[in-house]
Amino acid sequence: MSSDVQPTAGFTAIDTPDIRSVGIIGAGQMGTGIAHVCAIAGLPVTIVDIKQDVLTKAEANLGRNLDRQVRRSLITPDQRDNALALVTTSTDYAALSDADFVIEAATEKEDLKRVVFKALIPHLKPSALIASNTSSISITRLGAATDRPEKFIGMHFMNPVPVMKLVEIIRGIATDEPTFQAVKALAHKLGKTSAVAEDFPAFIVNRILVPMINEAVFALYEGVAPVSAIDDAMKLGANHPMGPLELADFIGLDTCLSIMQVLYDGLSDSKYRPCPLLVKYVEAGWYGRKTGRGFYDYTQTPPRPTR
Ligand code: NAD
Repeated sequence: MSSDVQPTAGFTAIDTPDIRSVGIIGAGQMGTGIAHVCAIAGLPVTIVDIKQDVLTKAEANLGRNLDRQVRRSLITPDQRDNALALVTTSTDYAALSDADFVIEAATEKEDLKRVVFKALIPHLKPSALIASNTSSISITRLGAATDRPEKFIGMHFMNPVPVMKLVEIIRGIATDEPTFQAVKALAHKLGKTSAVAEDFPAFIVNRILVPMINEAVFALYEGVAPVSAIDDAMKLGANHPMGPLELADFIGLDTCLSIMQVLYDGLSDSKYRPCPLLVKYVEAGWYGRKTGRGFYDYTQTPPRPTR
């Protein structure tokens, strides 16, 4: 509610919970990006991951990304130092016991996210809100796996988080209005524009984007054109800043495949069938940039197409 609007008699003003500290689960590319924007906005952040080496790498990446923003005069050196001082990391969920808001940004697998919530909940204060940054999985189902479905919501950031303006906000069937308003206010505080999506598989952006990526993999699989020709064609012919296969490597092929599977299972429509070549790359552990190889080989400079 804006400050100049007063509640009308007979209506009760919504008591929106204040988010003064943030917990993040998963120190991958999204968790690191979310920590970055929260810390720049002055919020203390604690990141939890199961792997210490991932946390160490995340801290280094965060420092590098903040330095890049200083070089580009997007932030001052003081803002960088203040942001870094606000971020702590841990492998123990107990470190989230004071958080007002926890956002889960672990691997895109429903079973894994359920395990995360089970481990997290005993440590949370009763008032804490929980969000998932899932790209595709039902918020209603994830919320039902917690002790507080009314305080559970989808908050879907785009990659790279410090650059992309949009956040999708998705209410589960049980999400209450104060939770929705608090998360909308948080998105605003982080300088993002929010789009509200209904709780259907992959929401808005990935419902449209990831089937396009899957179709690009089918074009490659069927021999329509090689990797660089597909990417160049979509950059020059459709004015996309990145080609679809380059983008798939950037998102992570494991994540793209999981999203296609959620669309395929959730909408029971064969048009969402994951391309067998995408499946094969993921089975090989070729997840894209984060593993050094996907549709491009990132050990080469510039990255070399693999087909
Ligand atoms: P990622 O593979 O870079 O990172 C996932 C992290 O989760 C890893 O560091 C892993 O160690 C950690 N993890 C796994 N199990 C855990 C557990 N039990 N407890 C704590 N941490 C655990 O993946 P990502 O690209 O950062 O994606 C994370 C989430 O964000 C997914 O749900 C994904 O769908 C979503 N997302 C991704 C993108 C994208 O472009 N990659 C964009 C928007 C949303």
